[in-house]
Amino acid sequence: MMSTALSHFIQQVDSALQEPSNEPMVLARVRAAMASLVAQDNWLPDAFAQPHPEFYQQYLLHRDPAGRFSVVSFVWGPGQRTPIHDHMVWGVIGMLRGSEYSQSFRIGPDGLRADGEREQLHPGDVAAVSPSIGDIHQVSNAHDDRVSISIHAYGTDIGQQKRHVFDPLTGVRKEFISGYANVCEAAQ
Ligand code: FE
Repeated sequence: MMSTALSHFIQQVDSALQEPSNEPMVLARVRAAMASLVAQDNWLPDAFAQPHPEFYQQYLLHRDPAGRFSVVSFVWGPGQRTPIHDHMVWGVIGMLRGSEYSQSFRIGPDGLRADGEREQLHPGDVAAVSPSIGDIHQVSNAHDDRVSISIHAYGTDIGQQKRHVFDPLTGVRKEFISGYANVCEAAQ
């Protein structure tokens, strides 16, 4: 049974996408909806909050039937981190439990470079990514001794989206598809 908080969030994203609008308008509405979703940490079922000893986990919470958006819980074990990666679509991140760091990167004439200071998200904080506002980052659990969880909404079925990871030394990018920890997709 889906929680009221999550179903309310899904309705809000759905209505933001039904009206004719542009990305800044969609991001503003989804960010506001995300801020209310992560204002309380009492709705995420334990099944979607389980860390893995080796790998950060992405659990699919909702996939829009038309594929316009998806909602994921991102569960960090102690000290876990992503590779440097992009999304190729808008994404809104809300910190639910614990804390995470995000370092942005950009591709310039001299290759892949850190862009600005590392940001730290605390419970209730919201951040966004997209190809137009900055899409490349590396994210890690800010804690070495406990689990952190953030909730992500993306403007597509993110588990099936072709995107990229970047080699930190050479900047060379490689295509990847993340999938979901709790969904076994049919072979592509
Ligand atoms: Fe990301």
